Amino acid sequence: MAYGFDTLQIHAGARPDPATGARQTPIYQTTAYVFRDAEHAAALFNLQEVGYIYSRLTNPTVAALQERVATLEGGAGAVCCSSGHAAQIMALFPLMGPGRNVVVSTRLYGGSVTQFSQTIKRFGWSARFVDFDDLDAIEAAVDGDTRAIFCESIANPGGYITDLDAVAKIADKVGLPLIVDNTSATPYLCRPIEHGATLVVHSMTKFLTGNGTVTGGAVVDSGTFDWSASGKFPSLSEPEPAYHGLKFHETFGPLAFTFHGIAVGLRDLGMTLNPQAAHYTLMGIETLSLRMQRHVENAEKVAGWLENHPAVDHVTYAGLKSSPYHDRVARICPKGAGGLFTVALKGGYDACVKLVDSLELFSHVANLGDTRSLIIHSASTTHRQLTPEQQEAAGAAPNVVRISIGIEDADDIIADLDQALAKAGG
Ligand SMILES: *Cc1c(COP(=O)(O)O)cnc(C)c1O
Repeated sequence: MAYGFDTLQIHAGARPDPATGARQTPIYQTTAYVFRDAEHAAALFNLQEVGYIYSRLTNPTVAALQERVATLEGGAGAVCCSSGHAAQIMALFPLMGPGRNVVVSTRLYGGSVTQFSQTIKRFGWSARFVDFDDLDAIEAAVDGDTRAIFCESIANPGGYITDLDAVAKIADKVGLPLIVDNTSATPYLCRPIEHGATLVVHSMTKFLTGNGTVTGGAVVDSGTFDWSASGKFPSLSEPEPAYHGLKFHETFGPLAFTFHGIAVGLRDLGMTLNPQAAHYTLMGIETLSLRMQRHVENAEKVAGWLENHPAVDHVTYAGLKSSPYHDRVARICPKGAGGLFTVALKGGYDACVKLVDSLELFSHVANLGDTRSLIIHSASTTHRQLTPEQQEAAGAAPNVVRISIGIEDADDIIADLDQALAKAGG
């Protein structure tokens, strides 16, 4: 029986606790699991039997969350990790190696730009930044050392929707996996695997958990990519010395990437999600569709109101008819363009700072996807070290604020912006 999204967000991956009958998924606050006998232990360590050994690799609370996220994304399996950034490294780790590169969109979360342009170089990896509206440029950036293509579905800080079908077609043509960061959209608004994505990564810190309580990440595998076809992905297709020469793709088929992520990635990189955090995220996901509906409804109202405000220069929200990406909403994220956008003020840098300082309901924080409405002036905070040109390119020009619309009463959100814009001057 195929359940709908609203049912799966509550039930997928969860079953009454076999020991106690507990209906809510217990927090298995344990480091290790008792083996039945020495033979059982040996089978687990050889990956001949699936079970629990040590919570750096697997934990029942985290496993329930992995199954739930995989189900909601329509994937074969998922690996949860300690943060969204950890998930991005975990997604690339089995694919990359020294000298290899990943082709990435220029429109990414600021932290991802830093991770890809600076930090991954320490592993001998590199990223090639390309405008993903220029399909020829994506293909031109791919060379013999490219191992993946990476973009966001609805790009943070909002307003930009990637044509996933077109990008997936290129990935297919060049025989590479497409990795989509679906953090801003969530599987309720967009299901990248249905548009051809191989892997989906999440910062569960944001909308999936939804309350701004914990950090977490996930890598979901579609299970559809042939890791053995090209010889480019030896971690998955060739014998693994640490498991007596086991070949992950040959042995685990559509679950190869997921098993590798746990048995090698979590084992050796240790970016593990803890069961307490998994519990908060499981609780959050139970109401995902309801929250996303309200985030979208509120964002549409607030963005529309802001667009007509005399102090506002422009609003980048794909849910607005004025957006160049409005046409993509129906195809890529049919239930709405999310809750995130940027606003440019005519009063420039000073007006932005005054707006942020004058808001009462909004919180000035470096986060998004909370039940609360959040705002940040990137140019004076997260992006203050950059040159004006770099700020502009990152969507963080001095006259721009980023807004994450919460699920409060839309009238209260608008009233707060109204009084603060009056103080900020126009
Ligand atoms: C926040 C965010 C990340 C990073 O996630 P963390 O949980 O903060 O590590 C990655 N991508 C996007 C789109 C994000 O919004």
